[in-house]
Amino acid sequence: MCGIIARIGRGDAADTLLSGLENLEYRGYDSAGIAVQNGSGVKVHKCSGEVSELKADLPKAPSGNMGIGHTRWSTHGPPTDENAHPHTDTAGDVAVVHNGVIENYEVLKAELQSRGHEFESDTDTEVIPHLIDEYRETAATTEAAVRQAVATLEGSYAIAAIVDGEEAVYAARQGSPLVLGIDADEWYLASDVPAFLDHTDEVIYLEDGDVVVLEPDAYRITDRDGNPVTRSVDTVDWDPEDAGKGEYDHYMRKEIDSQPSALSNTIEGRIEDGEVALEGLPAGTFADVETVQFVACGTSYHAAMYGEQLLKAAGVHAQVIRASEYDSMAGPVDETTLAVAVTQSGETADTLDAIRTASGRGARTLAVTNVVGSTAAREADDAVYIRAGPEVGVAATKTYSSQAVTLALLTQRLAADVSGGATLEDVETMLATLEDLPDHVEEVLEASRAETLAREFLDSRSYFFIGHGLGYSVALEGALKFKEITYEHAEGFASGELKHGPLALVTDETPIFAVFTGHDDGKTKTNAIEAQARGAPVVAVCPDDHPAVEVADAHLSIPETHPVWAGLLANVQLQLVSYHAADLLGRPIDKPRNLAKSVTVE
Ligand code: GLU
Repeated sequence: MCGIIARIGRGDAADTLLSGLENLEYRGYDSAGIAVQNGSGVKVHKCSGEVSELKADLPKAPSGNMGIGHTRWSTHGPPTDENAHPHTDTAGDVAVVHNGVIENYEVLKAELQSRGHEFESDTDTEVIPHLIDEYRETAATTEAAVRQAVATLEGSYAIAAIVDGEEAVYAARQGSPLVLGIDADEWYLASDVPAFLDHTDEVIYLEDGDVVVLEPDAYRITDRDGNPVTRSVDTVDWDPEDAGKGEYDHYMRKEIDSQPSALSNTIEGRIEDGEVALEGLPAGTFADVETVQFVACGTSYHAAMYGEQLLKAAGVHAQVIRASEYDSMAGPVDETTLAVAVTQSGETADTLDAIRTASGRGARTLAVTNVVGSTAAREADDAVYIRAGPEVGVAATKTYSSQAVTLALLTQRLAADVSGGATLEDVETMLATLEDLPDHVEEVLEASRAETLAREFLDSRSYFFIGHGLGYSVALEGALKFKEITYEHAEGFASGELKHGPLALVTDETPIFAVFTGHDDGKTKTNAIEAQARGAPVVAVCPDDHPAVEVADAHLSIPETHPVWAGLLANVQLQLVSYHAADLLGRPIDKPRNLAKSVTVE
């Protein structure tokens, strides 16, 4: 994964690089580094640990108006000082940061070593500065040398490089994201927009095969053969404040609290006269589709379960498949199949791989993503945006809610178009109550007892989450969130499954969070009571007048609403339980160990 940044302009680059890296830390945070040019050689500063440790290590920001930076999520070699990026050639004249995996690095490294190049790290990345250095000896320009170097690489990369004595930043992308930011008198390159959103909202989403040169007064984009390419300039409508932590201790808490406004954005203008109106997808768009396959990973998978269940309820053949299992689980796929990639970042490698496979078998593809210009959005035949704004906390919160709502809306479009589809019986009430969802989330946030319950159950051995129907997907998401950020054992189950095995684990030290959506809740209540009879404390997540409240040991309240939205309100309560439990345990909430937000490796 990793986050890379580069900047060239007037004044020193170091502070901009460091603050940009802080905004990219959701992509990886096991080591960090920068390299700048200050007229007396390329200066590299790097160490294992987070960007804050790099900053603490720098007595004063090094001077130089151009530089590159990196925050790492290691794929090759442990997170040590030596393996931190930037990496250089033997003489230290060429410095490179890299996001991706160089698959043929072992062969390249052996060849370079046999020609006298000295290596210092275990990374795949280190071959790149050595290759650029070697090609510079014969190429007419460094730009040509960079082009030759990237032509030698197999695998995925977004790279940025600086070279001693040259007023330029060189970059290239293949398979890993890279965005160019255009300000009045400076240029940026980064893995994602929040890295430079404080400075500019004018961006160019670079494409695979692009090679870029930034100079103080100009930038140029060419293909790998050196032919100029034209890329459109987009304006990002994200607010720089959304990318910062504001008054909050954690991004995750800020993002949980911002769900009312994120959801308002998701919904805005998408219901007209009681009908769903998704931009770019008019009635009849999916008339040739017979089967819908949702592909996703992690939290996005749980949101995709919403799409699957709602489509099935409308009589459409639908499946949800873990993207990494697509090869073996997809079954028959042809031109009547619609593969829907659900990916917050639009860069999730497993999900991209799945829709590429689906597309290769003739399927039509649709991306449901948060990031305009992302690879999924560009590669899929169509894209629908969840409009949640930037999410920085590694544990997804607001984007889950916005994904589920977007998918519920999409379901209505699909149910009307796809052969065999029928309108859900109570779609009118469902759409009418959706407009209340942001206010209902606000009510949950204002009155939640999640902190008290998190404290009460803090010493538990395991945490179980159960639910039925849409509540099952919420239970899975509740458990995933809990384990990601507390490091405690948590599992989600379909309510009826408890007695088929997991009940053996149930004791008075295993609280059960039971999600009630108001639809077919009997199974959840019965199974919760069975667990309670074995000593487990039961927390009912439901409206105040729900029958489960009387039998449960504790209650997390949600407003009365349509069952489809009740699950999302229950999820907000569970997000808060996870957040407070992690906070009480002193966990690094925004940067859970071993994880990164945008998983761009398979
Ligand atoms: N492969 C490089 C490393 O391990 C970059 C990692 C990445 O982009 O995830 O340092």
